[in-house]
Amino acid sequence: MTFSQYIPPQHKQDFKSGEVALVGAGPGDPDLLTMQAFRFIKQADVVIYDRLVSAEIMALLPENCEKIYVGKKQAEHRVPQEGINQLLVDHAQLNKKVLRLKGGDPFVFGRGGEEAQFLLRHQVACHIVPGMTAASACSSYAGIPLTHRQVAQSCTLITGNVQDNGALDLPWQTLNNAKQTVVFYMGIKSLPIITEQLIKAGRSEKTPAALIRKGTHSDQQVVKGTLNNLAELVKIHKIKPPSLIIIGDVVATFDEAELKNLGYLSPK
Ligand code: SAH
Repeated sequence: MTFSQYIPPQHKQDFKSGEVALVGAGPGDPDLLTMQAFRFIKQADVVIYDRLVSAEIMALLPENCEKIYVGKKQAEHRVPQEGINQLLVDHAQLNKKVLRLKGGDPFVFGRGGEEAQFLLRHQVACHIVPGMTAASACSSYAGIPLTHRQVAQSCTLITGNVQDNGALDLPWQTLNNAKQTVVFYMGIKSLPIITEQLIKAGRSEKTPAALIRKGTHSDQQVVKGTLNNLAELVKIHKIKPPSLIIIGDVVATFDEAELKNLGYLSPK
């Protein structure tokens, strides 16, 4: 494989016909787009996008931009990854400016690496534009610092997506440090397994835990509890994906009264 066609972002070239830009759209709020992402969005001839890209961000595309949806869960139909890869190459070979727009960051549970590999192997030049990943944005909007001095010295981003055989085979013993924040992506379905396994691995049942649904969107929901009861709370509130789970003492950093003001905090 050659990386010779990879275009370093610092070169700030324009989007040329026949190129693909893998662009992170962030978690939803268009205010969280990078300037670079915005620039590519504004120049696209065709966009290949998935479920997590918000309507507000789609509204920024040029009027005549062709829109191809390849997300999951549309009438149970989903374009397989190989099909998406091929679509990108095909449209680049039609000499278009191809925008591959993804939720969050393309390189964090976004299969951006696979798409970039495929493009480079097919001699298609690609730009990689980072986006704000859900862990970072959802935690800020929910008032949960991912690390906090003396409370959390590290933070692990991990997938809660079950394997094809229904198992969730994760290194649980590496997640049992009380001063470690653990953020699960794609974990809502397996939440009961996650909380049970973490307790088994040695984390206290009382460890604060939160679930953030549609983080940074105007209808963001936050459910807070402990390792012991979060799965039950989520069931009661009938919370659906996309949801992020944050586990660790950092969840309790601010109390509800303080959180009411968070986001509007200014020294008075
Ligand atoms: N590349 C993305 C992650 C894609 S995996 C990123 O960097 O953020 C999809 C998972 O991301 C979802 O199941 C959910 O766990 C999380 N996620 C993405 N956007 C989210 C949002 N706005 N609110 C809550 N969770 C979100």
